[in-house]
Amino acid sequence: MENSRETHQQKKAFRLVLFPLPLQGHLNPMLLLANILHAKGFSITIIHTHFNSPNPANYPHFTFHSIPDGLSKTEASTADLIALLSLLNISCVAPFRDCLSQLLSNPSEEPIACLITDAVWHFTQAVANSLKLPRMVLRTSSVSSFLAFAALPYLQKSGYLPIKDSQLESSVPELLPLKVKDLPVINTRNPEDFYQLFVSAIKETKASSGLIWNSFEELEESALVRLHLDFPIPLFPVGPFQKYFPTSSSSLLAHDQSSITWLDTQTPKSVIYVSFGSIAAMDENEFLEMAWGLANSNQPFLWVVRPGLVRSYEWLESLPNGFLEMIGGRGHIVKWAPQQEVLAHPATGGFWTHNGWNSTLESICEGVPMICLPYFGDQRVNARYVSQVWGVGLQLENGLERGEIERTIRRLMVEEEGQEIRRRSIELKEKADLCLKQGGSSHQSLESLIGYLSSFKELLHN
Ligand code: UDP
Repeated sequence: MENSRETHQQKKAFRLVLFPLPLQGHLNPMLLLANILHAKGFSITIIHTHFNSPNPANYPHFTFHSIPDGLSKTEASTADLIALLSLLNISCVAPFRDCLSQLLSNPSEEPIACLITDAVWHFTQAVANSLKLPRMVLRTSSVSSFLAFAALPYLQKSGYLPIKDSQLESSVPELLPLKVKDLPVINTRNPEDFYQLFVSAIKETKASSGLIWNSFEELEESALVRLHLDFPIPLFPVGPFQKYFPTSSSSLLAHDQSSITWLDTQTPKSVIYVSFGSIAAMDENEFLEMAWGLANSNQPFLWVVRPGLVRSYEWLESLPNGFLEMIGGRGHIVKWAPQQEVLAHPATGGFWTHNGWNSTLESICEGVPMICLPYFGDQRVNARYVSQVWGVGLQLENGLERGEIERTIRRLMVEEEGQEIRRRSIELKEKADLCLKQGGSSHQSLESLIGYLSSFKELLHN
């Protein structure tokens, strides 16, 4: 008893500094990782930007330090994601370095064993080097999509990029089963910025002391093997993080709990849940195709229409008069849902998603089959793996068209094909459950990660 208390106290005597990227899909997994490592005995400091700041009140067990990010009102927007992230990688350098050096020289706090940053914060490797602090990287998306980002220089040299309309359906033999249209491109006003951002992120990840994944070996075994050939640094697939703790406390928007009370009134596995995450946006025409596709499917639906989802509109103003009355109780629309609770609800039978990696994993964790409509970047790779490799979803291949939407919802929710996809989804959920149990792949990987972080602590002793 005495011994275990001592060990716990010794572990508490070391601190990890975590620096999340200020986007919902990146904050959630970084704060989950922080909780996981805290439960293993580390003290946690979070450095964060003013923009999209997490709420420290939800994490009284962590220490928070806010740094000025220098963004003007117009710059603090995800409308051009690459412009935002490129700018942040410049404007945060000095404030981050100052904050970290102050923390390192603060004698009242425990010694810092290691810095853990999001892969997209590429400038942090140089800062860590200059302060002689090991830096580990958390990549918040899939291993398979990371391999596609790592191949960008090759894809450009071989003429796959920039993408030509005539080649969209051609396969990319080096990245099977990806087609040209699945390559993880993110549109921006200056395409060279996209290329530079990811080439730097990949280069500085390679230079880091190790790479942590919110994924698991049984899901991405061959991608992990391929990755290790080119990234000879320690790799720790310790996910799905969502299975350790609920993500809700890092939500930047308030969850509408009427989602759950409405689901309570629906029959088991009947509802299609629809959400495209925190950034994706669409035009009015696409929104209307979506609305009519949902209406005509005759399935009950819970639809997250985030303010800003439809460009140039506040919220639902572009829906035709009488649309909501016509849907009646068969559809429920909210601005933001408690997604993990929704996916775990017995009434939820399918998830129409943009395949952000968190959404994809959350769906896998609950055994909910998907309809995939990726927008940009890693979502395209994730969608192809969901539909073609893991066989747990159907992909809308032609964008938003009401007839295809209606047919695809019915294929998934009522037809035999859907039953088979549901069966595979449940099998995959079981694998996700098992990997976290004693002796499971992620359980073991987490033990190795703790051992590895502890080795940095020992270096501090000497
Ligand atoms: N999410 C949520 N409520 C919603 C929609 C999304 O809480 O109505 C959460 C979701 O559970 C996930 C995150 O927001 O953890 C979105 O991350 P993802 O990687 O799926 O997509 P992104 O927002 O980065 O495009």
